[in-house]
Amino acid sequence: MASEQHGYEPVSLTDRLLSYYRDVVAMHADDPVIGACLVCRVPRCEDWRFASERLFAPAAREAEPIIPAPPQPQYGADAS
Ligand SMILES: [Zn+2]
Repeated sequence: MASEQHGYEPVSLTDRLLSYYRDVVAMHADDPVIGACLVCRVPRCEDWRFASERLFAPAAREAEPIIPAPPQPQYGADAS
């Protein structure tokens, strides 16, 4: 029995975007000599931050914003 595999892969915008972001991160990485992006001439330039955030954030594929947990209020633990 031949398991029919669809040649259907959800490889589209996301993967292409990821490789694009990889290029951007490589291009806009801080140069060790000048300590800044060679394109924008600023350390950790906006392009680099934007691309690396999407590259390294696990939720990037879901395109969902990362909501940080609210800080827990600290009650006095010594209330005996
Ligand atoms: Zn840059």
